[in-house]
Parts: sequence; C-alpha cells; structure tokens
Amino acid sequence: MHAALRAWTELADGVYARPHTAQRLNVGLVVGAERCAVIDTRSSHGQGRDLARAVRAITPKPWVLVNTHAHWDHCFGNAVFTGAPIWGHPACARRLAVDGEAERRAARADALAEGDARLAEEVADVVITPPGRLVAGEAAIDLGGRRLWLAHLGRGHTDGDVVAEVEGVVFAGDLLEEGAPPDFGDAFPLDWPATLEALLPHLGAVVVPGHGGLLRRADAEEQAALHAEVARAAREAHAAALPVDRAAGALPLPPEAAEVALRRAWRQLDAEGRA
Ligand SMILES: [Zn+2]
Repeated sequence: MHAALRAWTELADGVYARPHTAQRLNVGLVVGAERCAVIDTRSSHGQGRDLARAVRAITPKPWVLVNTHAHWDHCFGNAVFTGAPIWGHPACARRLAVDGEAERRAARADALAEGDARLAEEVADVVITPPGRLVAGEAAIDLGGRRLWLAHLGRGHTDGDVVAEVEGVVFAGDLLEEGAPPDFGDAFPLDWPATLEALLPHLGAVVVPGHGGLLRRADAEEQAALHAEVARAAREAHAAALPVDRAAGALPLPPEAAEVALRRAWRQLDAEGRA
C-alpha cells in the first residue's frame, strides 16, 4: 500500500525516473553541475521525505522543484523541500493557493477509496505550497551545464499542465499515463489532442508518463489519436444532443471515463455556445 523504496532508473546521463507503488506515480530527477531538479513531489510530507532521501542518495546539490500540475499526488510533498524554488503553471499555483482545500478533500477521498487510511490522515497535515516560479509558456531552468526545458503546450489533463524535457527525455505529467484510461476529472477534452500534437515533436525514445510504466513515442502517438477521437465523438454527440449514457458508448473509453470526458467536453461546448 505504501511507497516501496524503489530505485531510480537512469534514462540518460544524470536523468532519472522513480516509479512508486503508491498511485503508480513517476517522479523525475535531473542533475546538473550546480543544482538538481525534482519533477513532482508525491502525495504527503511522509512521501515527500522519502523522495527527498532518495534524491540525496543520488546527489547533494541544491534542488529546484517542478510541479507538472496541481493534483495532490504530484505536489503535496512540496513543503518538505524547504526553501526550494517551485516551478509550475499559473493555473496550478492558483488552484493550490485559492482552492488548495478542495485538492486536500480530493486527496482524502481518493486515499480512503483506495483503502489507504494512513495517507488519508497524512494529507490533513500537508502544508499546501504552491509554485512561485511561474511558467505560462516556456522556460528553461539552468541547472549548471544543462538546461531543463519547461513548457505549457495548452490545456489538457488540467488547465495548468507543464511538461519538462532534457536530453530527449520528456516528463509528461498526466498528459500521458500508462495502464489506465486518461483522467478527465479536471480535463479539457477538446484541447487535449492539440496539446499532445504539440508535445509529440519533443519526444525522444523514452517518455515518462505521470503514472505507470515508461512509454515509447508510438504509445504517445496512440494516446494522441485516442484523445482526437474522444474530442470528435464528444462534439458529434453534443451536436446531436444525445443523452450522456448513449453518447458514452461511442467513445473509445470505459463507460465511467467516457461519461466524465463527455461532461467536461460538453461544458466547454456549452460555454462556447454562450460566448
Ligand atoms: Zn493528475
């Protein structure tokens, strides 16, 4: 149930991914000559401390943090990395600063649903710590001798997804996942395909998704095609004013995910209609 202390996988010189049992979450580490970047910080102070120890097993260099988005399982470990500059999208910062308690409630509910009472308790004590270094478009973090490229390529899994790339290794956050359908809960299904199309040219041989096993470029292309089909079918069903349960059957997703995707897509289309 709790994060096993699993080893880092070195994907390129000084570029690592660390998979976790908890939430099947992936965290990244990029080591430069002067500092290191930690990409996502896990779900609680306890998990964050475990991560910090694992980083220190690789490098003693000062750290900067990157939050790929505002979901609790990616950023509730932030506070443990005391004083670290935290990079993230303005929408991610806003979500955590203005509505962090909603994120905490989601964390508690998700942890209890997964039978993880300890994590549900731990999230109550999390000091929610939003990013202060904002990246609305692109940014490059100088790590000493190498730069970590950050970019917001459009709305997708949330309105504030940031991807990171170095040495051809892309950390995609939850824009890409392995082993589960995409999470549409806070998503913008109509924008997600274009965001992935913008991401594809940046992909090298290996892609680190927010959750699950490492992906190859072909997997990412497949997911981009799936999102394009979801957006197309959602528009078509909206135009035909189909009920959600009938429309869901036309989407290449399990019924529950399809319904969430449709509701989110239709919300966008309704808003466009009102504009
Ligand atoms: Zn997420």
